[in-house]
Amino acid sequence: MFERSEDLFKRAQKFIPGGVNSPVRAFKAVGGTPVFFEKAKGAILTDADGNEYIDYVGSWGPMLLGHAWPPVIEAVQKAAEKSTSFGAPTEVEIELAELIQKMVPGLDKIRMVNSGTEACMSAIRVARGYTGRDKIIKFEGCYHGHGDSFLIKAGSGALTFGTPSSPGVTKGTAKDTLTASYNDLEGVQQLFDEHKGEIAALIIEPVPGNMGCIPPADGFLQGLKKICASEDTVLIFDEVMSGFRVAPGGAQELYNVQADLVAFGKIIGAGLPVGAYGGKEEIMKVVSPTGPVYQAGTLSGNPLAMHAGLALLSELHNNRAIYGELDQKTTHLEEWLHRIFKHHEIPHTMNRVGSMLGIFFTDKPVTDFNSASQTDVEMFKEFFHGMLKRGVYLPPSAYESLFLSNALTQEHLDQTVAAADEVAEVMAERMNKN
Ligand SMILES: *Cc1c(COP(=O)(O)O)cnc(C)c1O
Repeated sequence: MFERSEDLFKRAQKFIPGGVNSPVRAFKAVGGTPVFFEKAKGAILTDADGNEYIDYVGSWGPMLLGHAWPPVIEAVQKAAEKSTSFGAPTEVEIELAELIQKMVPGLDKIRMVNSGTEACMSAIRVARGYTGRDKIIKFEGCYHGHGDSFLIKAGSGALTFGTPSSPGVTKGTAKDTLTASYNDLEGVQQLFDEHKGEIAALIIEPVPGNMGCIPPADGFLQGLKKICASEDTVLIFDEVMSGFRVAPGGAQELYNVQADLVAFGKIIGAGLPVGAYGGKEEIMKVVSPTGPVYQAGTLSGNPLAMHAGLALLSELHNNRAIYGELDQKTTHLEEWLHRIFKHHEIPHTMNRVGSMLGIFFTDKPVTDFNSASQTDVEMFKEFFHGMLKRGVYLPPSAYESLFLSNALTQEHLDQTVAAADEVAEVMAERMNKN
């Protein structure tokens, strides 16, 4: 079934580290050979062997309306004919900035970059430049791209500062990143008390999608805002996943909390390489060339990416019904999976925010990194491969959220549910034998 993918993977490994250009694609978390894709349309992916799959990854978010959505393709084609890059300003950059400002609360100024990583790195630098402080707080299990400051895990024992989670990140960098536990407001307050006047920024995924999907507890985001305001710390929402997905205005709109800076990526470029960060005028004015904090990019505001983003976001802005439809489809899937797992007596927990869905094999609630790491990864692997064989492409890791697209039809959902029922039955049989 996967012969050509297997050949391609072997070939890729000769030239590309691990055969992939981003680690999660290598299937290390689920085992087996990564599927190489050839094309996709709407909710259906076609791999290099000609197998078709119902897609629940959506390029990790951007394909909110499905793959090869005609207005995006048309916009990219038209833009390409007029040149793929100028390295100079264009009108479409203003149009996209204006539209985003209409959709997202509190964005006085926005700067385009090329990835979510860049957006988060830059937001941190701006917060440090603005406050004149060095330290940041991040949350265990939240992912903000591969910038040095974010590849830090909590220190052990009495250490309040972190240690690098990747070789190549210096101890010097690690000492400026403090780690808190998601949904633990008291822990955050404690870090602030221990580091009075030292914390430039607190960065958080308001709806984490990088440890499955975890909703913020009632009042958690509001509590962070209050603490940050009283400590003059810049509150940064990393909405690279949640932005334009959980609501047109992202988590800020959904939970009615406003951050000082917001980072975007994924959906904002409709599948082209884009990120952006923005926020309050007072903070954004420190960014070069208005202010002294340097941040630049040869391909930033790239015309193909801007036109693609404009086409997608215009639709999301003009047609809010999309969000209700996505909600309904995701709820439907969640309810059916729940019924199936329950019927087969498979311990499970599901977390959903809008069209983000986390499936965890555990009988306990999953509210932070600690509880997410105690789920049964072996069961997830079994579920993942069972679904893959039956034509359903789930995120290849127990620690990633599903992202639904509005191209999914009732028929796709029914097929997915039928596949899940078969897989759950096999899993239950194996569990009973053991
Ligand atoms: C994907 C992601 C990033 C990094 O974006 P890239 O475009 O992969 O660099 C940052 N933050 C969050 C929340 C993400 O999900």
